[in-house]
Amino acid sequence: MALATPYSDKTDEQKAICEMVHQFADEQIIPNAEHYDHEDSFPEPIVEQMKELGLFGVTIPEEYGGMGLDLTTYAMIVEELSRGWISISGIVNTHFIGCYLLMKFGTDEQKQKYLPKMATGEMRAAFSLSEPEAGSDVQAIKAGAKKLADGSYEINGQKMWVTNGLLSALCFTLVKTDPAAEPKYKGMTCFICEKEPGVSENTGAYKGFNVPPKIKKLGYKGVESTELVFDGYKTPADSILGGEEAGLGQGFVQMMDALEVGRVNVAARGVGIAQRALELALRYSQERKTFGRAIAQHQAIQFKLADMATQVEAARLMTIRAARLKDAGERSDLEAGMAKLFASEAGRFCVEESFRIHGGYGYSKEYEIERLYRDAPLLLIGEGTSEIQRMVIGRKLLERNKI
Ligand SMILES: Cc1cc2nc3c(=O)[nH]c(=O)nc-3n(C[C@H](O)[C@H](O)[C@H](O)COP(=O)(O)OP(=O)(O)OC[C@H]3O[C@@H](n4cnc5c(N)ncnc54)[C@H](O)[C@@H]3O)c2cc1C
Repeated sequence: MALATPYSDKTDEQKAICEMVHQFADEQIIPNAEHYDHEDSFPEPIVEQMKELGLFGVTIPEEYGGMGLDLTTYAMIVEELSRGWISISGIVNTHFIGCYLLMKFGTDEQKQKYLPKMATGEMRAAFSLSEPEAGSDVQAIKAGAKKLADGSYEINGQKMWVTNGLLSALCFTLVKTDPAAEPKYKGMTCFICEKEPGVSENTGAYKGFNVPPKIKKLGYKGVESTELVFDGYKTPADSILGGEEAGLGQGFVQMMDALEVGRVNVAARGVGIAQRALELALRYSQERKTFGRAIAQHQAIQFKLADMATQVEAARLMTIRAARLKDAGERSDLEAGMAKLFASEAGRFCVEESFRIHGGYGYSKEYEIERLYRDAPLLLIGEGTSEIQRMVIGRKLLERNKI
């Protein structure tokens, strides 16, 4: 007979880190988010503390100065950060994808050059696929790189919706290097584009890499989303991710691989915002009275709380399962797509239910739920919309169940 062991979904190390980040969110992020959201300004003091906590190097191996933790632990940390404010998890998100791309596909020189500075947060990364005329249909991008006589490449074209577009020092950028390639994805390459953080019009070695003013958004404020304009930007052949020989024409495959972990990451953000919406609803519904009792005593409100808590629990389990499969080296494309779809929709659902529970006050900027209501829809779009997730899930299901 099997001996019963106490159930725990976290290791001791994971518990300690999550408690630390939870406390950080309670003390530093939540009390200050309203200010930075209102001003739409970058939360520099919070980011400085995140650097001190090592949060930019969570998944980077210890030999490069990171914590060397797995995707599962990372997802747990992202849930806690996102519970505080999804813009904070957005600052880490594209950076994490850049780290993943370097660790998986980078040459030894590229790893040595960038990972130690990325681990401390001194150098932060952005990730750029989307363009003004191409988001879901990544193979329709137009930005291109041409090889010059001296062996370097010149990039021209426009990118759109780049999170951390201005303040990052590195941008992992997907462009076409062979527009005539068939299938199209074989003519796409990822360049590690360096620039000066915070500079709109780069000069000197980074000339031709321009960052227009940040895009004004509904929510997800504080972290900047920008266009990027490449206008004759020259970059050496060894800035191709994985080196010219191995990396040329591999950009699409590399980026799609990174999107799989990116989806777990967005799923974790969905869990975090859903969890916070639930907490706010639990508190408000016990404080607010109508018809002589707390609204939490009305069955209709209890049903909302029950549905929200059930969605949070399911989203969390799906997210952690997708991360664990990836960490175990097993196939997780289907699970990551399902987790992203479910958790981002759970985020939207829970935020809307919590908003309704807050009645008129949910519409007031005095209440945190107003910010969550503007922030949650982003998760339905980034790293592939819900429609695209369903396409991915459907395709993978059929692949795995061929008759
Ligand atoms: C705040 C923010 C931050 C972002 N950050 C980044 C970033 O850092 N880097 C980056 O590269 N991108 C980023 N993006 C871009 C994001 O990934 C895209 O917006 C997203 O992939 C959707 O692309 P699109 O906006 O061009 O919509 P479209 O692709 O034009 O889609 C429009 C609508 O059509 C639907 N649709 C499209 N194709 C199909 C189909 N075949 N079947 C059914 N429905 C379909 C979509 O689901 C959507 O509802 C960001 C976006 C936002 C809003």
